Amino acid sequence: MRHQHSPQIEQAWSFISHELRTPLNSIIGYAQMMMDDPQHSLPEVQLRRVSTILRAGRHLQNLLNNMSRHDLALQENDRQEPEEIDLLLSVRSAIAFIEPAARRKNIVIHDTLPAESIIIAGKSSALDQIILNLLDNAVKYNRDNGSITISYEADRYFVTVTVEDTGIGMSEDQLAHIFKPFYRIRDNKDSYTGSGIGLAVVRELASFLNGTVGVKSSKNDGSIFWFTLPLKNSTS
Ligand code: ADP
Repeated sequence: MRHQHSPQIEQAWSFISHELRTPLNSIIGYAQMMMDDPQHSLPEVQLRRVSTILRAGRHLQNLLNNMSRHDLALQENDRQEPEEIDLLLSVRSAIAFIEPAARRKNIVIHDTLPAESIIIAGKSSALDQIILNLLDNAVKYNRDNGSITISYEADRYFVTVTVEDTGIGMSEDQLAHIFKPFYRIRDNKDSYTGSGIGLAVVRELASFLNGTVGVKSSKNDGSIFWFTLPLKNSTS
């Protein structure tokens, strides 16, 4: 089981994250507005500076989002009975959420998911977060005009969901570290915003749902991430 935070610490965290989020949203919003306003276009040098503010703001926002959702999912896991979750609903809503970002890079999303429900026992917020983080990376580390393929395989006991991308890939050495909290691959740090905790969260939440995660990748040749979870009828 996870270590327990005291209620005071949980309250303080939720207060701090809220207090940080509001000003951060306005920093990001105004920076975005300065970059996008056609009537007051910025000189090149200012554009670069504002874009640095925007990247730094998004980095902090990503960190806060991951920490808050991760904490929420674990709290729910501790406090409530597992519910029945339809894995397909989680996958479909994550696809809908990620689609605008994919469209901006002209990335096509293929899914070979079945029409019928796939029920697992657990917390939907944990499952949603796992899928979202994997899809978010599959878009972020993909190339323009690339693709993402989401597929699934199930037997009587387990379901495996696979997210395959056509992106920058990773070497064997890099793969050994990517699930560690705050680890980011050095070559990519300057080109992609992120906090380095998305995959650590994926692994921890998968283990809370009694599942596992895995990855296969090679440099410049795309990545395949998957997670396996027990089906509801296999645990009841
Ligand atoms: P973040 O994306 O915020 O940096 P993650 O924990 O999600 O953090 O990922 C850790 C590192 O693993 C990333 O910095 C990136 O270098 C690498 N990575 C994750 N997903 C992919 C992917 N689909 N393709 C290539 N590299 C990836």
